[in-house]
Amino acid sequence: MFLRRLRPFVPVLILSVFLAAETPSRPTASESSIHFFMEVLAADAMQGRETGTESELRAAEFIASQLKAHGIKPAGDPAKDGGRSYIQKAPLNRRALDAAPELKAAGKIWTHGKDVSFVFLGESQFKGPLQRLKPGDAVKPGAVVLVTLQEGVEVRGQILGPLRNGATAVLVNWAEQVRQGYEGAAKELPEIPLDPQPYKYVILGADASKQFADVPEGAEVSFTGKLKELPPAFVSTVIGVLPGETDEAILLGAHLDHLGIATGRPGDNIYNGADDDASGCAAVMELARVLGAGKKPLRTVFFAFFGGEEIGGVGAGYFLQYPPLNLEKIVADIEFEMIGRPDNKVPAKTLWLTGFDRSDLGPELAKHGARLVADPHPDQNFFARSDNYPLAKRGIIAHTVSSFGLHAQYHQPDDDIAHVDFQHMTTAIGSLIEPIQWLVNSDFKPQWLPGKKP
Ligand SMILES: [Zn+2]
Repeated sequence: MFLRRLRPFVPVLILSVFLAAETPSRPTASESSIHFFMEVLAADAMQGRETGTESELRAAEFIASQLKAHGIKPAGDPAKDGGRSYIQKAPLNRRALDAAPELKAAGKIWTHGKDVSFVFLGESQFKGPLQRLKPGDAVKPGAVVLVTLQEGVEVRGQILGPLRNGATAVLVNWAEQVRQGYEGAAKELPEIPLDPQPYKYVILGADASKQFADVPEGAEVSFTGKLKELPPAFVSTVIGVLPGETDEAILLGAHLDHLGIATGRPGDNIYNGADDDASGCAAVMELARVLGAGKKPLRTVFFAFFGGEEIGGVGAGYFLQYPPLNLEKIVADIEFEMIGRPDNKVPAKTLWLTGFDRSDLGPELAKHGARLVADPHPDQNFFARSDNYPLAKRGIIAHTVSSFGLHAQYHQPDDDIAHVDFQHMTTAIGSLIEPIQWLVNSDFKPQWLPGKKP
């Protein structure tokens, strides 16, 4: 710190000799620490860290071991010895279809795994009138929308957009970019969540796509499935705490789960999730390492590595239901998602913050040296697509830091270590250390800006 100010030559020498014993050098992010952490978490041996599986638990236990090594205390479920464990387990009751689901319209039937692929089913049935959606069209409420994918536009947005806008379900015309990602899924039966969810989408195979051309606009499209219960499982979230002088808290988070293995897919079928979101976990772990090695902070710092994000914020939802602290005490939540590569939509060595203009947190961090700008992809609605969102809905000032530039490896097995830019990651994480140390040791309380609270 003292190196920043210019002082006369002699006093500087004296001061630096005098202070050297007590003042540690400025903390930086360690590329070797980040590398080690990423190599383990995104390894094939982690089997894609799928929600509710042993591989998610394995990832959680590795992360817990690292927190312990950095002197961070456990804040998960009560442990047998009367203390706490690092892991918070959220029960996950699941259901699956008993037989391959069938899509029906205009007297025709298309079967899952053969003609169509039911990729995600938020409920065990749906029906609605067919609407062929062209770019710019408004979704008719309750319609089963047929989407023909546009080149060069992110697939997920094209599918989820109509669902957010009131469609009952989305049918996707077979396209190469979709086929690649869902070949494996086509052979498995989709699970059905216990609580109905709005997400229902079906990919039409090449033949089904052609046959759908004969289904009249407005004709009823339907699906009804028979259900069976799956054995109970649990989602693993890791929670650690660095106690401060006060009980005001800063929460730093990322998600440890990813998509598992596409069992039916030939070749590399393990979803390593290096960028999504081993990279965010690495950021939180580096902050834990640096803060854990420093002097006791003013505010208490919680570190959360949520499970179950990829199936809709299950770990974060459970955390809110069974929080390890009074939620009113959380001054700010900063999540880290997909910082493994730079986003060329923003200047070099810069990260973006979702919902930047919703609160004064981002601008204030930027004032304290963070290279943080507004999210350059507002059409993607990233603010609502990560674990910050359920917390923000509870009133907590919660944002996500990212540098995801919509790369082709998103939710693909080749989101792996080979595609990570470690120099970018190290610089990015390093640039946030001092601003976050400032936040942890300040009395600044971020606020939602007028009308911007979600
Ligand atoms: Zn993801």
